[in-house]
Amino acid sequence: MDNCIFCKIIAGDIPSDRVYEDEDMIIIRDINPQAPVHLLLIPKEHYADITCLNAERAATLGRCLNKLQDIVGNIPQLKDGFRLINNKGEFAGQTVGHMHVHILGGTAMGEGLL
Ligand code: 5GP
Ligand code: ZN
Repeated sequence: MDNCIFCKIIAGDIPSDRVYEDEDMIIIRDINPQAPVHLLLIPKEHYADITCLNAERAATLGRCLNKLQDIVGNIPQLKDGFRLINNKGEFAGQTVGHMHVHILGGTAMGEGLL
């Protein structure tokens, strides 16, 4: 998708710190980390947000999430836990219109969500 920063990162037109890549997704370090470890799981297919899922996209996202246990297992800072966040829309603070999941960890975040 033209003018999508994450599509440009996936294509390699914008550099990123890639932690993982396969046919379905990339996982990169967030440029503006909100925790000691802040990763972004980004499906390679462009779609705007989680409400744009269909059966195929849901299956792909399921494969991606299923791989997290192994990927996260290779990051010692995440051994005590991590948090997944998906923002949809303005009120949630979504700034990039290419569906992605934040992976946050490396510190005790407590029980409050906000
Ligand atoms: P959102 O607010 O849409 O849920 O999250 C977008 C995230 O993308 C933000 O945490 C922001 O820091 C990150 N981000 C925006 N542009 C870039 C970039 O060029 N490279 C990387 N690695 N992260 C980016
Ligand atoms: Zn995109």
